[in-house]
Amino acid sequence: MSALLEVDSISVSFDGFRAINNLSFNIGEAELRAVIGPNGAGKTTFMDIVTGKTRPDKGDVKFGTPSKSLLKMNEAQIAREGVGRKFQRPTVFEDQTVAENLTMALKAGRNPFAVLGWRPSKASVARVADLAAEVGLAAQVARKAGELSHGQKQWLEIGMLLAQEPRLLLVDEPAAGMTLAEREQTTALLVRLAETRAVVVVEHDMDFVRRLNCKVTVLHQGSVLAEGSLDHVTRNPDVIEVYLGR
Ligand code: ADP
Repeated sequence: MSALLEVDSISVSFDGFRAINNLSFNIGEAELRAVIGPNGAGKTTFMDIVTGKTRPDKGDVKFGTPSKSLLKMNEAQIAREGVGRKFQRPTVFEDQTVAENLTMALKAGRNPFAVLGWRPSKASVARVADLAAEVGLAAQVARKAGELSHGQKQWLEIGMLLAQEPRLLLVDEPAAGMTLAEREQTTALLVRLAETRAVVVVEHDMDFVRRLNCKVTVLHQGSVLAEGSLDHVTRNPDVIEVYLGR
């Protein structure tokens, strides 16, 4: 599998505290990866660096084929390169319908200026319907986002991100606050999405990570502590020590 994202020896310190410490790892094209680790391990900072919110003090982050350094780009440019980020809390427009939310995302695309002069076309109407279907909301297109369940709002936001055609999707704790049925649907959605793009799921919930059934990267003190299947990493004595604190 060729690498889509190469995190190469990055470090970042905040007021002398090293939050990311010589971190290196790769994500392949069309790979589903879970990134886990205890609180303070550096998971959020890692996502902040990849999306351009935080600059590392050293190292490089390369993306795409042929690969380009993301460190020379600002957040908007990185999004346009094809990096999408789903924050934990859904940020949909509650008083707009599912279709309207998706249409807005489609208008904006990877370029917010594209909104100027944009008119809905037959193709964009069809694309909105496809996006709704892709995230399991085909039956909800005419409903206001505010009427959706928590899980459905999360899927809508994923649909809005898909409108930007990301090649890498970073997803922060997608299953938090979901019902069991919603968690199962979210697992299926993420697995399906990773068939055609890379999906990195940052997650605390081990039960959910087990369902994803993918390679796991364990972060600790800003570095990779272990990598492999969930069974492999949870047998690692260093991982056990970090999680159980002894
Ligand atoms: P995680 O998401 O794995 O819980 P974070 O990436 O949020 O970990 O944080 C890693 C470490 O860096 C933590 O100790 C946190 O307190 C620290 N940290 C993160 N961002 C900042 C910041 N902007 N200023 C100071 N310290 C920070």
